Amino acid sequence: MEKGFIVRKVIIIGSGPAGYTAAIYAARANLSPLVVASSVEAGGELMNTTEVENFPGFPEGVMGPDLMAKMQEQAEKFGAEVVYDDVVSLDVSGDIKSVTLGRGETHEAEAIVFATGSAPRKIGIEGETRLSGRGVSYCATCDGFFFREKVIAVVGGGDSAMEEATFLTKFASKVYVIHRRGELRASKIMQDRAKANEKIEFVWNSEVIDVLGEDAVTGVRLRDTVDGSERDLALDGVFVAIGYDPRTHLVHNVLDITEHGTVWVDGRTSKTSVAGVFAAGDVIDPTYRQAVTAAGSGTVAALDLEHYLAARGDAGAPAEDASIIDGLPTPA
Ligand code: NAP
Repeated sequence: MEKGFIVRKVIIIGSGPAGYTAAIYAARANLSPLVVASSVEAGGELMNTTEVENFPGFPEGVMGPDLMAKMQEQAEKFGAEVVYDDVVSLDVSGDIKSVTLGRGETHEAEAIVFATGSAPRKIGIEGETRLSGRGVSYCATCDGFFFREKVIAVVGGGDSAMEEATFLTKFASKVYVIHRRGELRASKIMQDRAKANEKIEFVWNSEVIDVLGEDAVTGVRLRDTVDGSERDLALDGVFVAIGYDPRTHLVHNVLDITEHGTVWVDGRTSKTSVAGVFAAGDVIDPTYRQAVTAAGSGTVAALDLEHYLAARGDAGAPAEDASIIDGLPTPA
């Protein structure tokens, strides 16, 4: 460890609703959390969202990035420290956990909250990877602007696909929604909004089996999921919105992972298979994955870690009390 770093009470990895809510609670409990917010994805998936209409307390709706800025401000107000970097490795095998960041620093803490969220799922076909960034996108709010008066498609049948398709009609001349079944998974309000939009046309029972184009997207090849027939659909762009996968790559051989690919936690708690490591938000949730459930999950993690630290005999003490220099833990 680099000379001069202290052993903290807690390091929170992730800066979505789960990470920042855990930070707000931990900071108010005088635990001076360090939040590793990511170098390019600080704020999490809500940074790629437009209006959030279902977060309690905002009857007029709130823009995703504004909501995340408020959460960060609230965490910092109570003493959380935010670092814009990525965790490249972590060692949670000992009593004191360590986290190494992309720029080389290592931070140590008695407890870790793992709240890395989820990443957009890929269809997993060759053309998708080859043309990613050249007409294939996973973020309507980031890339929609590039498709003014173009014909594009959104793949998926959930709330994300409805939200992206509706948003993209601001730019595109036409938006196909390609769904593998004959009915949508999306909530009724989101479905109704998309179905009422004249620029949106649904392509039912269709699987994208290839993305076509040499240097840029020119279309997709579809397979009918009912009769197996194939056809090409001409397009200028494809937005993939088929759900999210939990970001667990850092902890695959470290923490127990469930059959859903999420980090295993003990019942309704945030306790992972390793003592002192807590997990919260989308990374543990295969079912609900809402901003507000993630925030609640961050609360659970903060309360669980407070109890964990209390059992060690030091919850609520200022971080400096347990600080050490040169990587030598203070004897318990
Ligand atoms: P989701 O609800 O899991 O839906 C994923 C959709 O993509 C489903 O329609 C699924 O088809 C389809 N799909 C999955 N894998 C596919 C594949 N390999 N090829 C083709 N299609 C595939 O995911 P989501 O829409 O991202 O939503 C995730 C969560 O966030 C949900 O809980 C949702 O309510 C929430 N969310 C809420 C809002 C909002 O309230 N404003 C906005 C966005 C997301 P099947 O239906 O056939 O399984």
